[in-house]
Amino acid sequence: MPFMVNQQILLAKLDDLKQASLYRSRRMIESAQGVVLQVEGRKVLNFCSNDYLGLANNPEVIASFKQAADQYGVGSGSAHLVCGHGREHHELEEELADFTGRERALLFSTGYMANLGVITALMDKGDVIYQDRLNHASLLDGGLMSGARFKRYLHADVENLQQKMQSHSLGQKAMIVTDGVFSMDGDFAPLDKLSVLAQRQHAYLMVDDAHGFGVLGSNGAGLVEQYQLSQQQVPVLVGTLGKAFGASGAFVAGSDALIETIIQQARSYIYTTALPPAIAAATRASLHFVRQDSWRRDKLKMLVRRFQAGARQIGLALMPSASAIQPIVLGDSLKAVQASDYLFAQGFWVSAIRPPTVPLGSARLRITFSALHDEQHVDQLLSALQGMSA
Ligand SMILES: *Cc1c(COP(=O)(O)O)cnc(C)c1O
Repeated sequence: MPFMVNQQILLAKLDDLKQASLYRSRRMIESAQGVVLQVEGRKVLNFCSNDYLGLANNPEVIASFKQAADQYGVGSGSAHLVCGHGREHHELEEELADFTGRERALLFSTGYMANLGVITALMDKGDVIYQDRLNHASLLDGGLMSGARFKRYLHADVENLQQKMQSHSLGQKAMIVTDGVFSMDGDFAPLDKLSVLAQRQHAYLMVDDAHGFGVLGSNGAGLVEQYQLSQQQVPVLVGTLGKAFGASGAFVAGSDALIETIIQQARSYIYTTALPPAIAAATRASLHFVRQDSWRRDKLKMLVRRFQAGARQIGLALMPSASAIQPIVLGDSLKAVQASDYLFAQGFWVSAIRPPTVPLGSARLRITFSALHDEQHVDQLLSALQGMSA
């Protein structure tokens, strides 16, 4: 008998997810990204986007996109190593290298693919990878795919990592991998200490700063800029372009030898179509605003401080996060979903984050801010949160 997808099995599994409050569904938006979203026929205030600087719908970024689309069309036509590597891609790479203070930068189509590609290009069976236990799924998947031995250390705990590295022999290739700003907690990796440990152990240090890039550091070059860490101290740096940059794609930055190795070895680089050139052009415009508009970062900080002070006043327990990601842990998945639905009914879109995205028993509301919010938006959210806990 030919193989057939057994509908009953699928439906039973889906039902299990629903019973556990782990079923995920999409809401369809009918407007551009921004502070106010048109969704399901009404307007809601957006507190769940990663468009931290409000560049996704910036008129000048859009103009650069359109101009490049007129000149280069839409599709890139092929992979970078065939005939898809255009001038806009190349110049963006050079600008990103300059911006991050690295010798070279290399574009990937997504952050997920960058992480898979970088880790699998550098690590193999017989090597060992140390990962923070709260690392992003793409870092964990890259580690698994590489075939290297896999050790997870307690979140941001350098002592625990040091203990795990004790059995490590200097002849064995090792890599420490961490989020910069943790995507679901908003706190920072202890990069200064990690870089000292990595150098002492002759291990690579790879930092994925998807949520710090554009937002942290006085020029927006991310957590490595805030910590003042050079290419030697953080040799493998990944940033994404779909969050604070409001565009799409990602890059890895580091030494010339590192980038050439990744070009030769990373299957998620080699076997995929290059980003549309107009996306690269739009990202170059975003980079200009990231560098020039420090008011966006200042405003974001001000909004976060206002939110933290207001939350304290109404007795809401926040996490130790200084970033634009301000989670409220509720524990139970059902509770998190109900809280998110309640807020949505009140006109606020705050997403419920559940396992396996976060550890079991730590389901939460993940509130994010944008430089385009104003103080009144923050106060309105605080009132709604107060109403929710009442
Ligand atoms: C969003 C995210 C990614 C994935 O980036 P995409 O460009 O969306 O694929 C990788 N790492 C972290 C920490 C992220 O938050």
